[in-house]
Amino acid sequence: MNLWGLLKNDFFNQHQEILTSDWIEWQDEGIAVAHCAICQVLNGCWFRDDNKPQMPQHPNCHCKRLFIDAPVPNETGRATCDIRKFTEYLFSDKYSWNGKREMFWKLGFDIGDSAVMQSEFEKQAAERYCSGEYKLGLLNEKGQRINIEISLTKNGKKIKLITGWMVRPKGLITCNTPLGG
Ligand SMILES: [Zn+2]
Repeated sequence: MNLWGLLKNDFFNQHQEILTSDWIEWQDEGIAVAHCAICQVLNGCWFRDDNKPQMPQHPNCHCKRLFIDAPVPNETGRATCDIRKFTEYLFSDKYSWNGKREMFWKLGFDIGDSAVMQSEFEKQAAERYCSGEYKLGLLNEKGQRINIEISLTKNGKKIKLITGWMVRPKGLITCNTPLGG
């Protein structure tokens, strides 16, 4: 990009920030035929401007920020967690070796709590994501992973969990792992 292009971009970005919210949609403006797979998978994803993947991603990256309205939990900002993350992963025999099931059993949760956990995860993750309370994790050609803290209460005890999500286009995040770290 030439000097004029840099100045124009800088001016544009500064003024956009004053006028609109601090949320952005990642826009992959790839013009090359074989464009970067990471930029492509980020296309359309929403981030808070101060908590987004590095931009530019690479030399000659043409990705841009489109400033958008901050997402509203369960309206424009949504989180979905497949119930099988609990029934067929966390509480299944198949993955008992990882010790997660044992840990949840000790806390008083079992497979019968799957639906309640699913709805709590979805509700809290949408709220945290929309308030920018997420930590960027691994980014590769499959997408940008984020970690979100979720708290559950059982038998009067409050438990905090670090959960793993994938950022999808247009305000959606989907649960990768119900217990990370
Ligand atoms: Zn790019």
